[in-house]
Amino acid sequence: MEKLTTSEIRQKYLDFFKSKGHLILDSAPLVPKDDKSLLLINAGMAPLKPYFTGVKVPPSKRVASCQKCIRTGDIDNVGRTKRHATFFEMLGNFSFGDYFKNEIIPWAWEFVTEVLKIDKSKLYATVYFEDEEAFEIWKNKTDINPERIFRLGKEDNFWEIGVGPCGPCSEIHYYRGNEEIKTVEDFIAAADQDEMTEFWNLVFTQFDKDEAGNYNKLAHPNIDTGMGLERMATIIQGVDSIFEIDILKNIIKRATEVTGAKYGVDKETDVSLRIIADHAKSLAFLIGDGVLPSNEGRGYVLRRLLRRAARHGRVLGYKGLFLNKIVEAVMDSYGDAYPTLIERKDYIFKIIDMEEKKFHETLDSGMDLLLSFIDDTEGKVFSGENAFKLYDTYGFPLELTEEIIAEKGMSVDLEAFKREMLDQKTRARAARGESSYMGSNASGIDALDESVVTEFLGYSATSSEGIVLHVYHDDGEVEELNAGSKGYVVVDKTPFYAEMGGQVGDIGEIIGDGYKAKVLDTKKSKNGNVVHIVEVTEGNMKAGIASFNVDNSTRKSIERNHTATHILHKALKVVLGSHVNQAGSLVLKDKLRFDFNHFEAMTAEEILQVEEIVNEEVLKASPVQTKIMSMNEAKSTGAMALFDEKYGDEVRVLSVGEFSKELCGGTHVKNSGEIGMFKITSEAGIASGVRRIEAVTGMNSYALFNERDRILQGAADLLKTGRNDLMTKITSTLTEIKAAHKEIEEIRKTNSLGYVEELLKNIENVNGISLVKGEVKDVDMAGLRDLTEKILDKLQSGVVVLGAEHEGKVNFSVMISKDLVKKGLHAGKMIKEIAAIAGGGGGGRPDMAQAGGKNADKLNEAINIVNSLLTA
Ligand code: ATP
Ligand code: MG
Repeated sequence: MEKLTTSEIRQKYLDFFKSKGHLILDSAPLVPKDDKSLLLINAGMAPLKPYFTGVKVPPSKRVASCQKCIRTGDIDNVGRTKRHATFFEMLGNFSFGDYFKNEIIPWAWEFVTEVLKIDKSKLYATVYFEDEEAFEIWKNKTDINPERIFRLGKEDNFWEIGVGPCGPCSEIHYYRGNEEIKTVEDFIAAADQDEMTEFWNLVFTQFDKDEAGNYNKLAHPNIDTGMGLERMATIIQGVDSIFEIDILKNIIKRATEVTGAKYGVDKETDVSLRIIADHAKSLAFLIGDGVLPSNEGRGYVLRRLLRRAARHGRVLGYKGLFLNKIVEAVMDSYGDAYPTLIERKDYIFKIIDMEEKKFHETLDSGMDLLLSFIDDTEGKVFSGENAFKLYDTYGFPLELTEEIIAEKGMSVDLEAFKREMLDQKTRARAARGESSYMGSNASGIDALDESVVTEFLGYSATSSEGIVLHVYHDDGEVEELNAGSKGYVVVDKTPFYAEMGGQVGDIGEIIGDGYKAKVLDTKKSKNGNVVHIVEVTEGNMKAGIASFNVDNSTRKSIERNHTATHILHKALKVVLGSHVNQAGSLVLKDKLRFDFNHFEAMTAEEILQVEEIVNEEVLKASPVQTKIMSMNEAKSTGAMALFDEKYGDEVRVLSVGEFSKELCGGTHVKNSGEIGMFKITSEAGIASGVRRIEAVTGMNSYALFNERDRILQGAADLLKTGRNDLMTKITSTLTEIKAAHKEIEEIRKTNSLGYVEELLKNIENVNGISLVKGEVKDVDMAGLRDLTEKILDKLQSGVVVLGAEHEGKVNFSVMISKDLVKKGLHAGKMIKEIAAIAGGGGGGRPDMAQAGGKNADKLNEAINIVNSLLTA
């Protein structure tokens, strides 16, 4: 067996199947496209599902790939078995109704024993116990020792998910032990001990299971195989586990360097190091494929992996941020095969850094709380409410809590956790407020005739003739709607655009025989029908011919904003990076709103850059065009689309010059020049990882400009200067104010020095103690303390008691020289009694104390009691 690098094995596999007539496909991204049933790609066949189900025609009947996979289901095995990772690469070859068992079994054997030259005495095959055909092919068409073919049951060797295509499979295993494997029991025991490793699964999709549970034979059965690249490298490189193969070894090494832990000495330390190395791979690839940390779906998978890896750093005694140092090693290992990892390097580092910091901030407080919860727990069941609190307030993934308490032999009350989660969702929904699609007063809308399909004329026209088919009042269909009443109408064809894709509905007028009605809004009903919401202004509205007039200037303003939104979307990608995607939008008459995924606030610079790009595109006065094409065609032209949105087979692609291409059903200006000036008015975060931009165009920009101009003029008038001199004037005014403040300070200081002189003229002698007391003006507490100290300095031995009124309150300060303190005088005690008279309190050290009070008119009385305190 020749030692090959992981990358050589990958290449040999693809070359081998290329020589057998396969088309080689690139790995699909980890985020599935057009597949809501799957969170992340977990097998080579996952992105090819549409070819298996016949929804799409494959580019070739034989394809092979090396597919990036994430399996979070294996997370608890990572580091504990020799063969499981959360991120791994799956080599696979696929036949869509082309070759079958007769070809794939001998090919697989040929590849493993002749290309990779794996020792035949180490290999075993399994087949489904009823699959005689596969057994015979192994026996007759390969030279495997027939005693090494074992028959297993459904759970191991039959692949099915619910109803649909399914079938038996055959797996190839490598045995690293030295026992004799004679029986199926021996085989299973070796597998349980992780000595017998499955590395290649050949799935024969030959049935279609129906609802009744019958397995119907498929006319054109398929082949779907999957071989773990890391597992194969483990075998070829003769190492003990996937963590020691060439591309993983350096990641583990980096983890030891960073954390100071040693690999291969202690089992639990190894598990932590392996988890860190494995999860770091997943993080890099997930973020590289556009996933951002969040509390839901894929984002949650990412968050959970990151937090788990970060925590294992702590388990190893490492306190600082470290994940990016590990991810650097991931890039060294995988950069050649996956260049986008390198292209998106800075972005990946940034996201990890932000999320890891966030976790560290909450981890310590969360950990304390978790430990106290554990202390408070009697028995083995950890409260679901507490687990939820940790999740909700401290960002502890449930699984992390579970993992930590499992170390104490406890488990979470999952039912209670789920209940809390559900309650929270309900609360959130209630807070958002749920109303019917037409507002709260739309009870009659259920009676709308849903059989009508209204033709939309509004892409090219804003007024047209048509027929009012049905008129509705709130309570249902009516013959006539009287002047002053509101209702809804459904028509045969209309230029009115019904609210969709963020663009608001049109307003305007319907004029018919003897009546006029204002169209207040236009919406879509549940099945996509256009509904005009009207208020009759003259006569009685009824079914029949009418003319429909959209309010042109409103529509134009909306269109300016809509087209600007498209240009903005692209400009954001240019300035911030390709990870930017639309998360929502609202296109109104007076402004546009655009929500997008980005991990931090935009800088002023970035905002300017985006504005500049948009305005340049506007000034190019490029044609705005639409084209109807198939979804595939649209994708191949690089049109931007929200893939989780539903589009039909035929899509409408809107392009602005050469700059932007995007799927869109809305209405737009004909030429980008019509947009006028584009100006961003705000940029802010609305949720974790989601930013919102608001902007204006056309006459609204002009109005904004005028408004700002007016403010400037107002400011200039107040400062009695011209607009152009405003900055200079403000600067000089601020300098003047500062100088004036300084002067006031100086004056105050001189004044207070005057106080010192003045007060020292009246030194009293009370029982042989020198006392200076009195009221001063216009000083704050700090100034008062300062004065007290100065006077005591001059006295050398004595007591000083000062009071001052400041900003409506009274302050006192008392200081006593050291010699008198030794004799038992106490400033703190003294001030307490003094302040009490002025309605305050306070205290302090024996030599100095300060206090406040409320009654300014008691100031003198309070100060004066010091004499009695000294004689008492
Ligand atoms: P196991 O029982 O060992 O978890 P599996 O039956 O889940 O394997 P399949 O679903 O048949 O595996 O996947 C096809 C191949 O992908 C496997 O033969 C194996 O080589 C590889 N593979 C599966 N899961 C992992 C994993 N978590 N890490 C690395 N390789 C894997
Ligand atoms: Mg598995």
